Amino acid sequence: MFILSFAGLSAVAQQSYSRGVQLMGSAFEITVVGDDANQANKHIDAAVAEIKRIENLISSWDKDSETSAINRNAGLKAIRVKKELFQLIERAKGISKLTDGAFDISYAAVDGIWKFDGSMKQMPSAKEIKSTVAMVGAKHIELDAKNSAVFLKKKGMKIGFGAIGKGYAADKAKALLQEQGVTAGIINASGDMSAWGSKPNGEPWRVAISNPMNKNKVFALMPLQNRAVVTSGDYEKYVRFNGVRYAHIIDPRTGYPATGLISVTVFAPKAELADALATAVFVMGKEAGIDRINQLPNVDCILIDENGKISTSKNIELNNI
Ligand code: ADP
Ligand code: MG
Repeated sequence: MFILSFAGLSAVAQQSYSRGVQLMGSAFEITVVGDDANQANKHIDAAVAEIKRIENLISSWDKDSETSAINRNAGLKAIRVKKELFQLIERAKGISKLTDGAFDISYAAVDGIWKFDGSMKQMPSAKEIKSTVAMVGAKHIELDAKNSAVFLKKKGMKIGFGAIGKGYAADKAKALLQEQGVTAGIINASGDMSAWGSKPNGEPWRVAISNPMNKNKVFALMPLQNRAVVTSGDYEKYVRFNGVRYAHIIDPRTGYPATGLISVTVFAPKAELADALATAVFVMGKEAGIDRINQLPNVDCILIDENGKISTSKNIELNNI
């Protein structure tokens, strides 16, 4: 190992240690900076355990999760849940308000009628969309703080954390590692990134932003200093009917998928907020989305529309695009 010492002060060379791991149905990569591979591995193990714990809490596939219990009892009764889940749902409701309903964890009732894996051959009928979207609405998620209980008021209602869960997990893993004394690292939750500290050489972490239409061409290398960045819009996941490209992100107010944008990148202090806002901006569209982001402190965005045109919020300046 390379050891530097100056006048009795010694420093062991820091380096970064990374591990790729499949979690929450996505590829995660956890990077920590340290001077000891063994110790770094232990830290990464702890982060993995933390993400698995969150997955068990918020998964709607796992029949035994508290989230599934809430969904199963929609229209029937309130379910007492862990404070952590209660508070996540409370914050999610807050983000619905902040985005005029464009982000809404109760979008999930509509999930059943749209498929973005190529299996859908015709559009759901207007009637079907209308009756399903009637079961969507954050205002129908009733929260009882005293009993830490959640009640979905309408039968058939469902919540899902697809647009906020990975961000939340990245924040929690980062917080845990910081508590353990890890001074720098990045949690990359399949593109939802939460970073702290800086690279072993002292430079800031940087994220490469590319255009999904031309993945090999990075058009911006943005510094990420104690901040999170999330990109929404799986370029592959969409359906096309009558010449319109429908993304896998649903407008909870209409029941129709969002159109117009193919990629939304949001920078924010927390990955949870960035994740939810990226989804919301997708739904809100270019003008309304940028306008809303411009009103939020320490939040920025980069959007790409279906013609490959790039737009940004007011504090981001891209050269040569
Ligand atoms: P990506 O899958 O590209 O990372 P997101 O973070 O935006 O994108 O998450 C999209 C997922 O969020 C969808 O697959 C679905 O599970 C869920 N979702 C879709 N529309 C909404 C919405 N309007 N509000 C909240 N969650 C949504
Ligand atoms: Mg999201």
